Amino acid sequence: MNNAIYNFAPPSNEPILEYKHNSQERTELEAELTRQSTMVIEIPLIIGGKEYRTSQTGTVRMPHNHTHILATYYKATEIEVQFAIESALKAHKIWSDLSWTVRASILLKSAELISGKYRAVMNAATMLGQSKNIYQSEIDAVCETIDFLKFNAYFASKIYEMQPRSTFNQLNKMEFRPLEGFVFTVSPFNFTSIASNLNMAPVMMGNTTVWKPATTSLLSNYYLMKIFQEAGLPDGVINFIPGSGALIGNTVLKSPDLAGIHFTGSNETFNHLWNEVSGNLSIYRSYPRLIGETGGKNFLFAHPSATAREVAVNAYRGAFEFQGQKCSAVSRMYVPKSLWPAVNKELISICSEAQVGDVMDPMNFINAVIDEASFNNCMNYIKYALEDGDAEIIAGGKGDKNVGYYVEPTIIVTKNPKFKSMVEEIFGPILTVYIYEDNKLEETIGICNETSPYGLTGAVFALDRIAASSMCEQLRYAAGNFYINDKPTGAIVGLQPFGGSRASGTNDKAGGEFNLIRWISPRTIKETFLPASEYRYGYMID
Ligand code: NAD
Repeated sequence: MNNAIYNFAPPSNEPILEYKHNSQERTELEAELTRQSTMVIEIPLIIGGKEYRTSQTGTVRMPHNHTHILATYYKATEIEVQFAIESALKAHKIWSDLSWTVRASILLKSAELISGKYRAVMNAATMLGQSKNIYQSEIDAVCETIDFLKFNAYFASKIYEMQPRSTFNQLNKMEFRPLEGFVFTVSPFNFTSIASNLNMAPVMMGNTTVWKPATTSLLSNYYLMKIFQEAGLPDGVINFIPGSGALIGNTVLKSPDLAGIHFTGSNETFNHLWNEVSGNLSIYRSYPRLIGETGGKNFLFAHPSATAREVAVNAYRGAFEFQGQKCSAVSRMYVPKSLWPAVNKELISICSEAQVGDVMDPMNFINAVIDEASFNNCMNYIKYALEDGDAEIIAGGKGDKNVGYYVEPTIIVTKNPKFKSMVEEIFGPILTVYIYEDNKLEETIGICNETSPYGLTGAVFALDRIAASSMCEQLRYAAGNFYINDKPTGAIVGLQPFGGSRASGTNDKAGGEFNLIRWISPRTIKETFLPASEYRYGYMID
């Protein structure tokens, strides 16, 4: 046993490469995009390090060109789900006993592989499979994935350092045990980095996982799994099982060894998982930890002192980057009447410039939404706005699903601050604006605070710094990530730990100590050097 005490230096964030024409990274990425789009790969289940193929298959397609098949995948049946649980429990024995520095080294090696050898692979898979442009993929599949891996190794080192005080006649220790059992990880389609982190955060702390990836992000998620294996992840530590959420969930939630759920996705799914766990409480060995980040209805609130161009640019980028499919995306905006003509002009000008189209053309700012269900959902909101007297569409409003699932960035202006699209999460490129009277600022901040059940992200724009502070106070519970004079998307690991409360989740702040701490069950050990040999209290003895 090596008793040395290790320290990891605080990491720096992965630099975002520029991908300028003819740069080395651009040339490598273009070659990889061609390679991945001219083949159809097979995506097996990976359980205990072994590949499994079942009789049930599905296809992975490009959202921006939906007849183009990228992969065939195999779906788990109850039998493979059971194997995955058994395999996670078997691996737990070795993995949880291993020195945490060995675990950290596997995370750090995965980060190095993504930063170098597999940068183009991860970007191409995320661009083609999830319809992200180069920049959106680079900040997600590469930079944020690496940051989660490196920062979690560092934050874990800080947690392991924490020890209680000992006195002269006793030694007190905290043993940071992983949870007893396995962790069920359920990932969403929209961020490759989240899929990585949902697994690697509990894994860093010594847990093993049964991973149900989203079907619409399987290509990048499969490559991630292969990279973790190449980095030295032992068999069974992560068990990758694509398939039907309902089928996998049903089997997993009935296991007495379910120790926790690490989830990111919709409220509907998380509420379902929570309800099922509640109903099954009597069968579990421990109370499962439930950590979930869910939906958002994020706001941008402009104060009369704000600058119109800054409001418009940040609203556009915040609302429409990656087609509005970020949990943090701006989807409702409050603008004072005095500022609106200038903001409106700037927004229309940007909308007329920014192009929508295939990810292969780097000049396209907006690409396709993830699938047909998402396309139909967006078009239903647009139809509702077109038909309702309380709303007017001032930009976009059209969609086309013939080749890819394209929805134009759409701006709705409403007279009703509780209009349907001001309240409900849409998860697409639709921004609704409410114009308030300048003398109704306080009242409108109150409306903003109460309009939606969520509390994920929000931004205020104001040159008047006292007004910005006051808005920050008034909107205290409206967002777990609050921004002053910045768009509410693009949180960076190590700088802005991410998560929201109210209906947006358990706010365990991915990418930091708060989250990692949920994956341990500490044991306190007290050793006394001089055990008691007298049962009476001191005052009972002469
Ligand atoms: P989703 O809820 O449809 O799917 C998430 C995952 O749950 C998928 O892997 C899906 O297959 C699985 N699933 C579905 N039913 C299941 C069941 N019964 N049992 C087990 N698993 C099941 O969400 P999505 O469409 O992939 O992602 C979009 C949602 O995610 C949005 O609501 C968005 O706001 C949210 N999101 C939140 C954050 C955050 O940090 N708060 C980040 C990203 C995405």
